[in-house]
Amino acid sequence: MLATLVLSLEAEAGMDVILVGSSELSAPPSPKLGRDLIAYEVKVNQRNIEDICLCCGSFQVHTQHPLFEGGMCTSCKDKFLGALFLYDDDGYLSYCSICCSGETLLICENPDCTRCYCFECVDTLVSPGTSEKVQAMSNWVCFLCLPFSRSGLLRRRRKWRARLKAFCDRESESPLEMYKTVPVWKREPVRVLSLFGDIKRELTSLGFLGTSCGPGRLKHLDDVTNVVRRDVEEWGPFDLVYGSTPPLGHTCYHPPGWYLFQFHRLLQYARPPPGSPRPFFWMFVDNLVLGTDDQATATRFLETEPVTIQDLSGRALQDAVHVWSNVPAVRSKHAALGPQEELSLLVQDRQRMGPYSQSSGPARLVKSCFLPLREYFKYFSTELSSSL
Ligand SMILES: [Zn+2]
Ligand SMILES: [Zn+2]
Ligand SMILES: [Zn+2]
Repeated sequence: MLATLVLSLEAEAGMDVILVGSSELSAPPSPKLGRDLIAYEVKVNQRNIEDICLCCGSFQVHTQHPLFEGGMCTSCKDKFLGALFLYDDDGYLSYCSICCSGETLLICENPDCTRCYCFECVDTLVSPGTSEKVQAMSNWVCFLCLPFSRSGLLRRRRKWRARLKAFCDRESESPLEMYKTVPVWKREPVRVLSLFGDIKRELTSLGFLGTSCGPGRLKHLDDVTNVVRRDVEEWGPFDLVYGSTPPLGHTCYHPPGWYLFQFHRLLQYARPPPGSPRPFFWMFVDNLVLGTDDQATATRFLETEPVTIQDLSGRALQDAVHVWSNVPAVRSKHAALGPQEELSLLVQDRQRMGPYSQSSGPARLVKSCFLPLREYFKYFSTELSSSL
């Protein structure tokens, strides 16, 4: 912690020197197009940075950047919303936290942070050459984690978590309300209720259910016929309710629609009261055994459209699931569809044979969908990259 802080302060000092003393930044010689213009416009032309898109340099500002002082144009806003909670398999956000693109990314080394920044943003908004300096540092923490809010032109907004939530609620077309992300020191272990399908292995390998430092807990139920509201309230409170149609190879005594109805029933018992700010997530996964009518019912009851998540290893469709969920980014991550005909064949197969044929769990396919929960709950060190 101390080492981080010292380095950060050094970084700040270094940046301040560049900011104040460098003639390069205070009077850029000949502004080129695009983002190189930002420093020139702000420093020389005294343009307010809120009137420039921080992501692309455009003057056609649509809204404010939720994390840093500066504007945002319409197309960058769309890109930002789409990539907001997209995680790579290594557990880091896939895109730059400022511009939501970027090929080469600098990774925040605060173990509780998952953010990345592209070279271009850091070099144009902090100061030229900063990306190189950051790379040379052994322990760099990012602009949202640093104790001070200002690095060159980059200024962290006050109350950025609340602003991010407001930004998503306002700008997003999805009807799901977003929860405010939780600061690291306030994150608690996650409490999970999992119905029918079990996600213990997936959550453990992502670090949500550790064995040391106060692990999250998971209650798994296969038969919920006699479960009443009082039971769920006694076992709870829960932060995540997961349910799925039975994994293939499981014996099951109910028609596929039964799992949906039971999931929906218990979900109502587990929900925090309306208007509660407590982050509460749910996910229902169908192994492609629900018929078209049941799927439509699920969409109506769960008040969200499903996404299809496919396992395309070996370029052939191996497996797929339909997912209804309010976990951020489930939708954007899997919006792109693979081969439709193959999927419908798989659906026919699955529905003909029922969920009894092979042995495979739907949970495996949705594992990476749980990564955004790291913004809300405590997690512990993992062997993430090897296990995904
Ligand atoms: Zn833009
Ligand atoms: Zn960037
Ligand atoms: Zn960070």
